[in-house]
Amino acid sequence: MTPLAVPLGPRDPGPVRPDPARLPAAPTTRFAPAPTGLLHLGHLVNALYVWGIARASGGRVLLRIEDHDRQRSLRAHEAALLDDLERLGLLPDTPPLDTLRAGRSAYRQSDDPAPYEAAAEVLRAQGRVYACDCPRAAVLAWRGPGCPGSCGDRGLPEGSPGASLRARLDAGAAGSTADEGDREAFDDLLLGPRDGDPSADGDVTLRDRHGNWSYPLCVVVDDARHGVDLVIRGRDLLDATPRQLRLGRLLGRARPPAFLHHPLLRKPSSAKLSKADHDTAIRDLLEEGATPADLLGFAAAAVGLMDAPRALPAARLEGLFTTSLRGGCSSVLAPSVSPHFSTSAGPDRRVAHSNQWTRPPAGVRSRRRHRA
Ligand SMILES: [Zn+2]
Repeated sequence: MTPLAVPLGPRDPGPVRPDPARLPAAPTTRFAPAPTGLLHLGHLVNALYVWGIARASGGRVLLRIEDHDRQRSLRAHEAALLDDLERLGLLPDTPPLDTLRAGRSAYRQSDDPAPYEAAAEVLRAQGRVYACDCPRAAVLAWRGPGCPGSCGDRGLPEGSPGASLRARLDAGAAGSTADEGDREAFDDLLLGPRDGDPSADGDVTLRDRHGNWSYPLCVVVDDARHGVDLVIRGRDLLDATPRQLRLGRLLGRARPPAFLHHPLLRKPSSAKLSKADHDTAIRDLLEEGATPADLLGFAAAAVGLMDAPRALPAARLEGLFTTSLRGGCSSVLAPSVSPHFSTSAGPDRRVAHSNQWTRPPAGVRSRRRHRA
C-alpha cells in the first residue's frame, strides 16, 4: 500500500467555530465556486462551513456558478463540480442541480450581463466610473486610491482597446454622501470587529480589459439580488470585504450581509490550496477509494472542526456547529474512524501539522465500483 500524501501547511491562527449565539437566524448563504478547475479539498472546507452553518441555523444554501471570467471558465468544469457536489451529498436549496444542468439560470453569471451593466450604470451616474489602460503589473502593485496612471483624470473613452473599467470608492469622489467615511467596518462572525480602507489597493475594477465583468462587482450585485445575508468564505478574501461593503452601499444595499471568514487549508509553503494542486481534487480522491464521508471528515479535521478524521456524512454537517459540540465534536458524529486516513496533527490545532491520506486497500476500491 503506497501512501498518497496530502501534505498541509500550518493552520491559520484564530478560532475555527463561531459562537452559535452570534449566527443569524435562518440565513441565506451561498456556495459560489468558479468553474475554472476541479473541486478540491479547499472547496470542501468552505462547503463544511456553508452547509453546516446553514443547517445548524435553519438557513438555506444557494449555489452560484461564478463564471464571470469567460476565458478561464469551462462548462466541462461546471458539469464536473455539479456531479461532485451530488456525489458528496451537498445539495443546494436553490437552484436544483438539474436546472443548472438544463440551461440558462439566474445563478450562473455568464448567462445574463444585465444586472452588472445596470450596476455599472448606477456608479456611472454617480460620476465614479472611468476607463483605465494601466499595465496589469502596475495595477497589482498599486496601493492607495486611484490607479498608477491617474486615468480618472484622463478622460479615456470607455471602449478604448485594452482598457478596463474602474470606479472610485473613496469618500471624496463625486456622488459621495456626507456619512461616508474613509473606512468600512464589519463584525466578522469568527474574527470579530474589523475595518479597512475600501480603496487601499486602488479603485475597484468593474470590467476587465477582456470585457468580463469583475469578481468584486458580480459578487456584490449577486449577493444583493439573490438575497444573500450571510457570506461564508475563506480568509483570503478578508481584505476584500471593506471594498465590497462600500460597493454594495453605493449600489443601494441598505443592510449589508454578515460575514464569516474561515481558516484555509494551506500547502506546506503556506500558500492556499489551489486548482493546480491536482492531488487534492475531490474526484481523484473519490476515484482512489475514499468515500464522500471520508473526505468531509478529513477536511473537517484538517481545518480544526474535528479533533481527528472520522467519517462525516453530509447530512450531519450541522453537528459541527451546534452548541452541544463546542469544545468537542465527537458525540454526534459517526464513531467509525476511517482506516484510510492518518494525521500527525497534535492536540494544539494552531500548530503546523501535516495530514496524510493513505491509499486504501484494493478491496475498498472494488466495493466502490460495485456500488456505483
Ligand atoms: Zn489607470
